[in-house]
Amino acid sequence: MNNFQYKNPTKILFGKGEIANLSKEIPQNAKVLLLYGGGSIKKNGIYEQVTAALDGVEVVPFGGIPANPEYEVLMEALGVIKSQEIDFLLAVGGGSVIDGTKFLAAAALYEGDTPWELLTAGKPVAKGMPFGAVLTLPATGSEMNSNSVITRKETQEKLAMSGAGIFPVFSVLDPQVIRSIPERQLANGIADAFTHVLEQYMTYPIGALLQDRMAESVLQTLLEVAPAILKDPTDYQAASNFMWSCTMALNGLLPLGVPTDWAVHAMGHELTAMYGIDHARTLAIMAPSHYRFNFETKKEKLAQFAERVWGITQGNVDEKAHAAIDKTEAFFHELGIATKLSQYTDDFQGTAETIEKRFTDRGWLGLGEHQSLKPSDVAQIVTMAY
Ligand code: NAP
Ligand code: FE
Repeated sequence: MNNFQYKNPTKILFGKGEIANLSKEIPQNAKVLLLYGGGSIKKNGIYEQVTAALDGVEVVPFGGIPANPEYEVLMEALGVIKSQEIDFLLAVGGGSVIDGTKFLAAAALYEGDTPWELLTAGKPVAKGMPFGAVLTLPATGSEMNSNSVITRKETQEKLAMSGAGIFPVFSVLDPQVIRSIPERQLANGIADAFTHVLEQYMTYPIGALLQDRMAESVLQTLLEVAPAILKDPTDYQAASNFMWSCTMALNGLLPLGVPTDWAVHAMGHELTAMYGIDHARTLAIMAPSHYRFNFETKKEKLAQFAERVWGITQGNVDEKAHAAIDKTEAFFHELGIATKLSQYTDDFQGTAETIEKRFTDRGWLGLGEHQSLKPSDVAQIVTMAY
């Protein structure tokens, strides 16, 4: 196992009715900016639940944070934080609203020229305003981690930042919010969480035994609940297990002591920036090609994944490893997610060259758990995904 340090300060309030306990978590007399997305919370009753729970608290609402939170919109919210002297941020939404709120938390205290530098500097974010979250969409794990991914429309960039200063103080996870999520977003959530685990698990060398089994248990649970959740999002048993699996997939527990990959996300972010494809769908496009391209280095782990998660006992290491990739791709298809770029855009020719050039321009050293994938390798992986 590799060395590690671990601290996760986010308090979780999990279960039915926990939104009602919100005000106990917010500092007394704080002026709160309530951040939300395109308005789904106004249709499904979550906005009313939140405002009822905050009765007596001074709340300024700010809606309109789009999926793939946009820098331009967030800069408007930053103006409100400053002009209204906001003390506390409350994100009510999915990964996009929570990521956007993390950016705002950091931007509000940023002393450099422009807060975009937080995303280009590549430095851990050490300080941010305090904020909490009410999660409405299980998927990203943003409710219990310190990552944030922000899009800048004018330059077609989608960049990530993270750091100890931008963990939520608390997050409320009421699995009943799942009832109103459209099937497409449920499928996305399952695929995103599944891929988060793969990015931390499908690496070499093998050696962190407990970490492997924890990752496998999250993968198995997601596979177990996926059909139930898609069939009936009001199934509380399935919803609660789904919600907690998504959080556990990316709350910092699984990467302890292991090398982590994240190449699938890095390539996927470029596809969202170029074509606006849903985040989770870009992962389903990139993951099968990534594992096929890196077959030789990852095949022992792929074979372990085949045996322990997919129950494949027949065949040698190579056969099991190939079967595991095929099973994973078939799982995305069962979720209704297409796994080829050409199924999303007719304009796919040239994508590999564009991504190769972007990575080269950024001076980035290499992708994958050992930074061994060069821009030309990435171009080949993207081409395989056409
Ligand atoms: P999302 O972009 O937050 O939300 C997707 C859609 O679902 C939105 O239209 C949203 O509507 C709707 N929605 C959310 N909750 C709903 C509910 N309860 N009922 C009905 N509709 C609901 O989706 P996401 O997958 O959670 O987040 C994706 C973003 O997170 C991407 O930008 C991705 O890059 C990023 N990400 C972050 C991390 C991390 O660690 N921080 C990890 C992976 C991905 P409204 O707009 O009306 O709310
Ligand atoms: Fe993701």
